Amino acid sequence: MATRQELTAKQRQRLADFIAPFLVRPGSKVSLAKDFDPGFKAGLKNKKAGVALLEEGVRLLSEYQARLAAQDTWGVLVVLQALDAAGKDGTVRHVMSGVNPQGVQVHSFKVPSAEELDHDFLWRYASRLPARGDIGIFNRSHYEEVLVVRVHPENLDRQKLPKASTKGDIWKRRYREINDWERYLSDNGFRIVKLFLNLSREEQRVRFLRRLDLPDHNWKFSAADVRERERWDDYHRAFSEMLSHTSTEWAPWHVIPADRKWFARIAVGAVLVTTLMELDPRFPTVTKQQRQALSEVKRALEAQAPEGAARDPCERARRDAKTAAKSARGDDKPQRPATGGANAGELGVERSE
Ligand code: AMP
Ligand code: MG
Repeated sequence: MATRQELTAKQRQRLADFIAPFLVRPGSKVSLAKDFDPGFKAGLKNKKAGVALLEEGVRLLSEYQARLAAQDTWGVLVVLQALDAAGKDGTVRHVMSGVNPQGVQVHSFKVPSAEELDHDFLWRYASRLPARGDIGIFNRSHYEEVLVVRVHPENLDRQKLPKASTKGDIWKRRYREINDWERYLSDNGFRIVKLFLNLSREEQRVRFLRRLDLPDHNWKFSAADVRERERWDDYHRAFSEMLSHTSTEWAPWHVIPADRKWFARIAVGAVLVTTLMELDPRFPTVTKQQRQALSEVKRALEAQAPEGAARDPCERARRDAKTAAKSARGDDKPQRPATGGANAGELGVERSE
């Protein structure tokens, strides 16, 4: 990554304003259907108007991820929850498309295995956390333990808890345990970004129909998903309670409007970029002493140049690039950023000088 892109204060403010409507204020009581509109699009007209924004987001993410990995201090855990057909997989694919795959791991959590059920409920999630420098994505997460497990209590029966552990309000207790666990992680350098892709019932119906109608999409269709749709209200209640109890100062929830896939991707990108910007990871710099040691090694390597070879071909290439840049600046045409149309400018995620 050659250039370092910093956003101006104004651009940062615009980005903060853009993601503000998605935030679940810690301590607030959420009623999903009332408080969040799955069709919201922040005044963006259509998919085309959002293309430049998504590109900018992907590019910034790539830059910040490289810095996150180089600094090796923070880890980032992205938690993705949604109802079926909300677009979790596509969001991961698009938003992370520019990021070095070595620094990102995606884990999809399914029905727990026998081994997983033989442990405490957070065990399987804890064992897949990202390392420092990495971005880990949970496609479904520990939140299933207060969602599908709550809507279908037979899942809880399978967890083989002792009687004493199921007494009282087990869901309130799990919220607290999850909050405590997340607090422990953030205190120790792991930032948690929680995203709920909010889909409307009607858009889910249309997406299921598309899976039936388009042969290439048939594989995605599951009769079980349609059965789960019957429990829409129960899921909505479980989501609302989860959002009310587990949006914390250290790990707040974001409700992403998901009826338009293109908008959901921009919104997710914007939340992730904001998080990384706040962490502000830096490429490590070398001390004066280290630089001196490097110079000595450099001189020794230069002295080993065979007859007729350049002492340091890299240095010559760098000098040539500098000269080329100088003469380009000499042009009377002002330099324009490579990407970032009018809409990117509006949101303030265009390249800053
Ligand atoms: P999919 O994401 O479509 O591959 O489906 C994964 C399935 O695993 C979904 O039906 C989830 O409800 C289910 N699942 C994920 N986590 C859990 C859990 N902790 N307990 C029970 N079922 C789960
Ligand atoms: Mg599924």
